[in-house]
Amino acid sequence: MLKGIERILKRSPGLKAKDIAKELGVERSAVNSFLYRDPWYQNVTPTMRSPWAVCPACDNPVQLVGLYKLPANVKNPFGKHTRSGVRGIAPLNTEARDNCPYFDPRQHKKTDRKKGFDGIPRKIISLLIEQFDRVVYILEQQTKVVLSTNALTGMLERYKGIEGYLYTGATLRNVPWIFAYMSDDTPLFAQKIVDNEELVKAIQSDIPGATVAANGRLGTKTLPGTKGPYIDIRMSFIRHRMVKDSEAAALKESMQLVASVSRKGQLVDIHKQVIDFDPVWFERLIHMPVDHPQRRMDRVDLARRVLGDLLEPRA
Ligand SMILES: [Zn+2]
Repeated sequence: MLKGIERILKRSPGLKAKDIAKELGVERSAVNSFLYRDPWYQNVTPTMRSPWAVCPACDNPVQLVGLYKLPANVKNPFGKHTRSGVRGIAPLNTEARDNCPYFDPRQHKKTDRKKGFDGIPRKIISLLIEQFDRVVYILEQQTKVVLSTNALTGMLERYKGIEGYLYTGATLRNVPWIFAYMSDDTPLFAQKIVDNEELVKAIQSDIPGATVAANGRLGTKTLPGTKGPYIDIRMSFIRHRMVKDSEAAALKESMQLVASVSRKGQLVDIHKQVIDFDPVWFERLIHMPVDHPQRRMDRVDLARRVLGDLLEPRA
């Protein structure tokens, strides 16, 4: 049961014992007796004890504030990052903590990279490979763009090429979105656009000759017996934003999808839309059975083929 509690606490550090018990299908008192035990419950100061957990974004120890009694002016329990490791919970990784949006929400430059690979970046790569079908599913649902295996391979290669997993704004919670953010310039020609009316409208009005077939496939008008010309239209992501009003407030993350078309050698934006991150959704998909019938292991294999060597032991 300890494993189960640990897993749930990692995902939602502020969850009440009552809710943990419900999720595990056990008595609340049983959960409490675990939570009140060392190391999950230990001293903050020689006279004060507190519950502890591991931050779901940066893997550092956090003190759970307000789990049993909310301090004045605090609406929800929250995890407070520490200045040192906590015995039995986790060691302190200052680089991961200082980049954690729950600790210090800020704008990150798209070119900012972490120094070390071990720790969060390595875990991000594992998660991205093992869950790549879910990552693609979430992106498809949000962008309404369905990409071919070739297009996905290109994204994986560009992500790897610019070391997107080292981006300082990448956490264990935003893996699907930062994967997209770090793999720009995906050609949309011959890809499918499904139920994205705004994007279809923009393409039809701004790109003479472009067509979107009934199945959503983007192509060009052809004369009988000829092959339509290629249209250079690309999808990129900009403006990753992390907003959190205080340490106790909820974190909101978003980015913008941009579709642009090449005109006389210049890229011109024809469509923009905001994509809100939904880490709870990703978490839910991760915890579905490993052999769920809707899994696409071919996509997991694809991600492993491109990124797998990053996980090999380094000298
Ligand atoms: Zn954190």
